[in-house]
Amino acid sequence: MFKLLAKSWEHKCNRCGLCCHEKVIIGDEVLLDLNTHCEHYDPKKHSCKIYIERLTLNRRCRKITPFHAMFARYLPDECAYVQWARSRHLRFALKRRIRFVQGDRGDSLSDGEALFGTQS
Ligand code: SF4
Ligand code: SF4
Repeated sequence: MFKLLAKSWEHKCNRCGLCCHEKVIIGDEVLLDLNTHCEHYDPKKHSCKIYIERLTLNRRCRKITPFHAMFARYLPDECAYVQWARSRHLRFALKRRIRFVQGDRGDSLSDGEALFGTQS
């Protein structure tokens, strides 16, 4: 039963990879750096190359739990876990503006709404 629930939870991730970029939180904004990301992230496919084994091969990688889905402010609205929590009225994190930055000088590109895309 627990295994089934865990599998079902894992399958909620749409593997968009948005949480695999380096990020900085400044006040009410999350700056997501599109130029730097985890070494296991494939920027062409926008996905993790070691997804199944990620938690054992990368000690920095964190499993998203229901707690994160409900409270983590760094997760974008497009994250499947955030959507899961929101659809159940369980999303309690204060909204933060997501901005993407790219380039050596950290040029700001766009608001999250314009660039985020889910792959589900
Ligand atoms: S190991 Fe974790 S942080 Fe790295 S690409 Fe995979 S899911 Fe993202
Ligand atoms: S942002 Fe959410 S849906 Fe996208 S890869 Fe990360 S955990 Fe999965």
